[in-house]
Amino acid sequence: MPRILPKVLQNLFRKPFTVKYPYVKRELPKGYRGRPAIDREKCIRCWLCIRACPDRAISIDRGTKTPSIWLGRCTFCGECAEVCPTKAIIMTEEFEYTTLYNVT
Ligand code: SF4
Ligand code: SF4
Repeated sequence: MPRILPKVLQNLFRKPFTVKYPYVKRELPKGYRGRPAIDREKCIRCWLCIRACPDRAISIDRGTKTPSIWLGRCTFCGECAEVCPTKAIIMTEEFEYTTLYNVT
């Protein structure tokens, strides 16, 4: 016991490694990929994003005839944003989306 006492005291007064999320938020690292977002005005309906998506998370919205992303399948790889010729899809820094289901 006496041998571990210095370590116990050291840890007792050390700044914690964790943060009190969601009250305290960490700064996101550069290049962080959150959920994808679609700007429908920029979409030219080339469907390259659908072909590029490895998870088959993108489908065509019947109403708007533009891509719709199923977040339940999306793994935030960023391939769709990479191939989009008009930059209609961007990877946001948003990761708190428990109430979202699809990006339409
Ligand atoms: S980020 Fe990746 S998994 Fe998600 S919709 Fe785009 S291509 Fe598909
Ligand atoms: S790749 Fe871009 S422009 Fe083409 S359908 Fe997808 S979002 Fe629209």
